[in-house]
Amino acid sequence: MAVKLLDLVEQNNELKPKFLKKFEEILDNGQFILGKEVEVFERHIAQYLSCTYALGVSSGTDALLLALMALNINPEDEVICPAYTFFASAGCISRLGAIPVFVDVDYDNFCISVTDVEKKVTNKTKAVIGVHLFGQACQCEGILDLCSKYNLFFIEDCAQALGAKRKEKMVGTFGSIGCFSFFPSKNLGGFGDSGLVCTNDEALYKKMRILRTHGMDPKYFHQKIGGNFRIDALQAALLNIKLLEMNKYIEKRRKNAEYYDFHLKNLDGIYIKLPKEDNGNYHTWNQYTIKVLGGQRDKLKQFLQAQEIGCEIYYPVPLDKQKCFFPQSGSAIVSKKLSSEALSIPIYPELKTEQLETVVNALYDFFK
Ligand SMILES: *Cc1c(COP(=O)(O)O)cnc(C)c1O
Repeated sequence: MAVKLLDLVEQNNELKPKFLKKFEEILDNGQFILGKEVEVFERHIAQYLSCTYALGVSSGTDALLLALMALNINPEDEVICPAYTFFASAGCISRLGAIPVFVDVDYDNFCISVTDVEKKVTNKTKAVIGVHLFGQACQCEGILDLCSKYNLFFIEDCAQALGAKRKEKMVGTFGSIGCFSFFPSKNLGGFGDSGLVCTNDEALYKKMRILRTHGMDPKYFHQKIGGNFRIDALQAALLNIKLLEMNKYIEKRRKNAEYYDFHLKNLDGIYIKLPKEDNGNYHTWNQYTIKVLGGQRDKLKQFLQAQEIGCEIYYPVPLDKQKCFFPQSGSAIVSKKLSSEALSIPIYPELKTEQLETVVNALYDFFK
């Protein structure tokens, strides 16, 4: 039985009549960018996050860029960022002329190492970007302590972790600004590109709202140099429909993770290492990423792919080893190790038990 790494068809089909009705409504009213649908979605998701302000934007990447712009990150400023994450977390820093300073991650939870952050703080450091990787919160308290000690901003990259909690508090609400993505592969998957920023700070919210439309306030009077970071009305309206299902999607992902935890435990610690939910965390399992021990990762990937079982390497090259960021001093050793061991297997909500079984059986076959 073929098992895709991600299949959105079933999830979206279930809501098709609602989507089509909404699409027709927007087609008829002709408001395609920002407007009422966007405001409704922003209110709804702010409520979901227990956050005062939310702003829909064009992508998760633009959410990060907008956050850095709003916090006045300038050329030559240093911004700390994990070496083990998606490129966008760091690319945005460089695009403002600032310097991404890469820190290592913790082997167990793939997230930014608080001790390594403190080692990399200099008098040029302005902010820390913490990434809630694969759907679980990083160590927010540790980072917040350092941020108050050294007077830094904490920006949360929540692209993979909408709905994730740490001690009952939603990710995105720990730092100055939370950044989200609705790229189709994220837990709230859209119909193209879009994203979101959230904050409890009214001044930051107002600034980001202006920067989202070329720094314009009022129309054609430009207070700042912003960009086109707007979200489409259609995108927001359809996401708003899916947002109602969000907790159900997460619960299904958590069930699938439990299935793997239980059925793969005989391989755990011998051939592979299973991912773990940190104490106090509510993991949303955007990815279920195992570590393959003994240098077998690439062979296992080929083996699974030959049986049409989807899997992917997130991420094969740590950011401090990317050509575009040369030259880099130091080296993120754990990130390098993870980039040779990590393999993500299917975890999406609509997986059938037989499909989970297929994945489990294939893993036992490989290691037998
Ligand atoms: C997906 C992702 C982004 C970027 O989001 P886009 O909407 O694709 O621009 C940023 N950071 C992380 C960790 C991501 O996974």
